[in-house]
Amino acid sequence: MSDKTSLAVLPSVDRVMNFAALKPLIDGYGRQAVLASVRALLAEVRKTLIASGNGTRLDEAWFEAQCRARLEQTEKPSLRPVFNLTGTVLHTNLGRALLPLEAQQAVLEVMSKPANVEYDLKSGSRGERDEHVERLLCELTGAEAVTVVNNNAAAVFLVLNTLALGKEVPVSRGELIEIGGSFRIPDIMKRAGCKLIEVGTTNRTHLKDYEDALNAHTALLMKVHTSNYAIQGFTASVPEKDLAALANKHGLPFMVDLGSGTLVNLKDFGLPAEPTPQQTLGHGADVVTFSGDKLLGGPQAGLIVGAKEFLKKIKKNPLKRALRVDKIKLAALEAVLRLYRDPERLKERLPTLRLLTRPQKEIEALAARLLPLVEKSLAGRARVSMKPCHSQIGSGALPVEMLPSHCIAILPPQTERHPGTWLEKIAAAFRALPVPVIGRIEDNAFCLDLRCLEDEKAFAGQLSRLA
Ligand SMILES: *Cc1c(COP(=O)(O)O)cnc(C)c1O
Repeated sequence: MSDKTSLAVLPSVDRVMNFAALKPLIDGYGRQAVLASVRALLAEVRKTLIASGNGTRLDEAWFEAQCRARLEQTEKPSLRPVFNLTGTVLHTNLGRALLPLEAQQAVLEVMSKPANVEYDLKSGSRGERDEHVERLLCELTGAEAVTVVNNNAAAVFLVLNTLALGKEVPVSRGELIEIGGSFRIPDIMKRAGCKLIEVGTTNRTHLKDYEDALNAHTALLMKVHTSNYAIQGFTASVPEKDLAALANKHGLPFMVDLGSGTLVNLKDFGLPAEPTPQQTLGHGADVVTFSGDKLLGGPQAGLIVGAKEFLKKIKKNPLKRALRVDKIKLAALEAVLRLYRDPERLKERLPTLRLLTRPQKEIEALAARLLPLVEKSLAGRARVSMKPCHSQIGSGALPVEMLPSHCIAILPPQTERHPGTWLEKIAAAFRALPVPVIGRIEDNAFCLDLRCLEDEKAFAGQLSRLA
């Protein structure tokens, strides 16, 4: 084909498809995908030819290269792994907890094979999917019964819809929280079909406020763990024990939304304490809800634990069917819960805990090893240094507590006239790497917090692409 190409000599779709050079693409990606890319390519060539009137060299090799580039782009999975160097360990937008090896293996086992999800192997009759985690969760939390749904938002919704439909639920004004992604307690209550009765004030709520709100229409008392913010100064809230006693006195259930909820005392791991479901149940709560993929370190799930009497009703709610988890999640959750039976080895085996407790010294040493590599890949185009920083737990857990960490800080050259734009561009360049690297812009620098970087080799191996 000549250098100058006119619309008249553009090859037909059929001809391009028959190019020998395209055969390997057809073998690899399938005829239909290649056909779509050829069509799109020809349409584009036609348009640019009309727009520019210019000729392009359109030989077989050119078609092969263009189609291959398109196919690589379109066949790349939309959902794929990234490096989370944001410094937020449980990053909701980056998928929260990383599953331990034990959970990965359990998932692999059941995902491609039939499994006894709702089948009782002893009797050969229908079983209950909650049973696969019920015994473990009861053992770990001291609850009488449990059920599992898709996430904690669903758990709160299901409990309220079961126990408070068409009735009133008093909640402290200091606990009317919003979690990222538009989960708001007042909204979820409305959708669950119950009426929120606000009690107390933003900073102070007393037992008397709850007492005054009680009447014949009250369904239950609810406490929400204010996990993603802290009220400081002149504050008061009613302890779980007192609310449990009040609920009990009036024959009402008492539910607590713990949000994160961990099954171990985080103080034992050198981390700030976070309430556990076992403590809350010990304080007299009848139903406790918490997330599977926050501090627990498992798959996305909503765990509802508590007294048999209420769990029985919750499980019977027809909406439970709409919110239930699949076998993949159940397998992962069971494997993660099992790890909690051996708290001594938990830190090594559970990625969430391992990352949260990673010693700053280790992160600093990692930064020192990577600094020259990052510097080299950006040679002369940026100022690169390492410095201490703070990571956070994320997902609303322990918002004020920070974890000392270390980062690589990338700054624009001193002469850069638009440092803000420059930083956005460098962040975009890191995101465009084969395994996207997500950092954060802070103090006029693009920071890569290395706390969550475990695959050092894979990270270093793709840096040369920044050049
Ligand atoms: C995170 C959180 C939720 C929502 O949990 P998901 O698992 O994200 O659905 C609800 N309540 C509280 C207090 C939370 O912290």
